[in-house]
Amino acid sequence: MSSFYQGPYRTWLERTATVTLWVYSGLIVVLLPAFHFVLAAIPGVPPDSLTERLAAAGISAVVALSVWLFPDLRRYAADLQLLNVLPVAIVVPMLVVDSGNHPLYVAASLLVAVGVQQAYYRTRDLVLTAIVVCVWQAAYSAAHGVFSQPANLVALAIVASGYLIAVVIGALRIRIQQNELESRLEAQRMKKHLDRLAYIDTLTELPNRQSMFERVRSALDGNPLREQVVVMFIDLDRFKDVNDTLGHSVGDVLLHAVSARFAKIVPSEALVARWGGDEFVIVVSSANGRHMASSIAKDLLRAIAEPFVIEGYEFFVSASIGIAVCPEHGDDVHTLVRNADAAMYRAKEVAGSGYFFFEPEMHTAAVLRQRIRNELRKAAHDGTLELHYQPIVETSTTRIIAAEALIRWRQPDGELLAPDAFIPIAEETGLIVSIGTWVLDAVCRQIRRWQDAGHPLIVAINVSAHQLAHPAFVDVLRDTLTETGIDPGLLEIEITETTMMRYIDDILTRLHEIKTLGVSVTVDDFGTGYSSFAYLKRFPLDSLKLDRTFVTGIEHREDRAIVRSLISVAQALGMRVTAEGVESRMQFEILADSRCDQIQGFLTGRPMPLADFERFYRGDGVTRQ
Ligand code: C2E
Ligand code: MG
Ligand code: MG
Repeated sequence: MSSFYQGPYRTWLERTATVTLWVYSGLIVVLLPAFHFVLAAIPGVPPDSLTERLAAAGISAVVALSVWLFPDLRRYAADLQLLNVLPVAIVVPMLVVDSGNHPLYVAASLLVAVGVQQAYYRTRDLVLTAIVVCVWQAAYSAAHGVFSQPANLVALAIVASGYLIAVVIGALRIRIQQNELESRLEAQRMKKHLDRLAYIDTLTELPNRQSMFERVRSALDGNPLREQVVVMFIDLDRFKDVNDTLGHSVGDVLLHAVSARFAKIVPSEALVARWGGDEFVIVVSSANGRHMASSIAKDLLRAIAEPFVIEGYEFFVSASIGIAVCPEHGDDVHTLVRNADAAMYRAKEVAGSGYFFFEPEMHTAAVLRQRIRNELRKAAHDGTLELHYQPIVETSTTRIIAAEALIRWRQPDGELLAPDAFIPIAEETGLIVSIGTWVLDAVCRQIRRWQDAGHPLIVAINVSAHQLAHPAFVDVLRDTLTETGIDPGLLEIEITETTMMRYIDDILTRLHEIKTLGVSVTVDDFGTGYSSFAYLKRFPLDSLKLDRTFVTGIEHREDRAIVRSLISVAQALGMRVTAEGVESRMQFEILADSRCDQIQGFLTGRPMPLADFERFYRGDGVTRQ
């Protein structure tokens, strides 16, 4: 309770005490002398001491004036009230006794009681004043031999009961007032909490998007130094993979850890805010914005390059950063953020680049990306997705033994969009799951048609990490196989090497499930990741696709040696080897010489629409371009 008196209750008490002190002092100053003159005019009433009354009224006046003149004294108003009341509380009983217990003095006593009660909602002080009044009146009347006179006893009883009532009312008021205050405090706390929620991101405890907007706006408005306002848009690379494979709780912990590192690394005058998901925005004003932004970007990239250890997993996080500087790249918050975002996308496209400053042509790319994002949702259902088939040829016989189904997206103007333009967006938005399901279904139906026509062909489809990580993936695969009734051996699933390496344990179980269905599995783009056979041998793989980069340089002696040894190790591990991106006869010869099992590339056939592919396949038109 004492802390309550020290706190807001104290302030309230002071305020109330100040007001009542003035009112009450005013009453005493007016009423006490008035009683003298009124009473003096009544015949038969014995005169009383004007000096005493004026002394009491004077003290009241002095106290009230002091509070009025010296604002600092208001802090002690509650205590001054006690000082003000005591002389009155002593004088009034004296007058009661001296003037023959006149009822008007009893009324004045009650005035004291009520005034005190008004001033202190402190029962302790009320009780103290009551004791002084009653004991003083008892003692004073006893000393004057009037204690036992009925009128004196009645006056004493009235004054005592007046105080008793005051104490009870005072105590009740304290209760009510406390409750009121507590609920007001609670409301204040609640408001503070809501304000915090409105401006702070609860997961990372960083300022949120709203605070960031306000910070940029105030930086743009109040910029007398003509500093450049820098907006940096940061997106963690492949963060969705963490959520998809390890769950959101691990993802959240990682985000929190990344945020903490960001917050630690940026200069104190910069604001790091969470934009949402795995995206952050940094705002900073500086005379040399570009220089400042580059140095922050480098520091950030260096800081997160250190691995994060969460629940026993080691995470290597990288980020892409886009930077927009005011006034060069925009002079309002929305333009700056949009342009920083567009520059971030460029950083993502150029793998390992880290950060980019905005350039006007990035805006066009961003508009296109936005259009793709908006329209891709419908693509899996509106018949605009198409599959092209690229032949895979057996090296020894140069016959087509399989095909890879490669997705394309037909635009309203008839143009075909390549997968690189929309698959990353599909992955980012989760739409890859429905698109992947469409590919699986379309390919299995095609396999069935070729199977029924009497010339079955193996078809490979590309499956992305998000699709593979989806809990329903194996069920959908099983259902599609059953529905279309194809020989599962005719379907091949391609998973990129990086996907495999990143989530070894989860993918391992998934692949075993897929294998039990009779579907074969290929590691795609081998050579772009860690290229580790030590890991690869743990996976139930049927074949391996050597990435195009190996084939491009195969004419050089060293590259040829590497390719040869990769082929023989893969074959020793029981895998067939396909070389991707074979464009020249020379490459073909070298690969054939290196005992590469299969060839895929423009030399033996580009990806083609279904009808073209069928014609090509029937004619077995190898090496035609
Ligand atoms: P990928 O699976 O490695 O497919 C091979 C890519 O190399 C194809 O590009 C193909 O057109 C291209 N290519 C083939 N031979 C040659 C050659 O001789 N020279 C050159 N320069 N390129 C050649 P495309 O069709 O643009 O596909 C790109 C990537 O998009 C694919 O790489 C694959 O990772 C992804 N993708 C394609 N379709 C799908 C799909 O249905 N689902 C998913 N998740 N990803 C897909
Ligand atoms: Mg592929
Ligand atoms: Mg490939």
